[in-house]
Amino acid sequence: MAALSLAQRAHTSTADLEHVSGVAGRILRGQKPYAEHVAEIRFEDGVWLVPSQHDATSVYEVVIGRRGESCECADFEHHCGSCKHIVAATIAKAKTAPCVSCGQRFRHRGLYPVPGDNLTFFESELLCRGCATGHGVL
Ligand SMILES: [Zn+2]
Ligand SMILES: [Zn+2]
Repeated sequence: MAALSLAQRAHTSTADLEHVSGVAGRILRGQKPYAEHVAEIRFEDGVWLVPSQHDATSVYEVVIGRRGESCECADFEHHCGSCKHIVAATIAKAKTAPCVSCGQRFRHRGLYPVPGDNLTFFESELLCRGCATGHGVL
């Protein structure tokens, strides 16, 4: 059963995705053009900076917070829902975690868990390479 559904998913084309509705559909559609841009999405002062799909020099400020999501693009204003920038930022958020020391977000493979004998941080908290080196974890 599981093998069958995986095979079906592998054959799903972009055209099929256009018919997927709801949040799952938005995420699937948003994932395609932005998949290669996720690494370029930055997180600064609580704001996700998502590069524009059409103009690489401009970015959209996306906020994903407890009180909801917002984006400064026209799409979000007119439809009052998740736009592709919010979807892209959501993907970037899922792929990263904050360093407990500097607060910046990094890809999971760029974070190092704190060992149990550390006096500054709790065991298994995550540190970026710079902070881990500075605190003698690496
Ligand atoms: Zn937007
Ligand atoms: Zn850090």
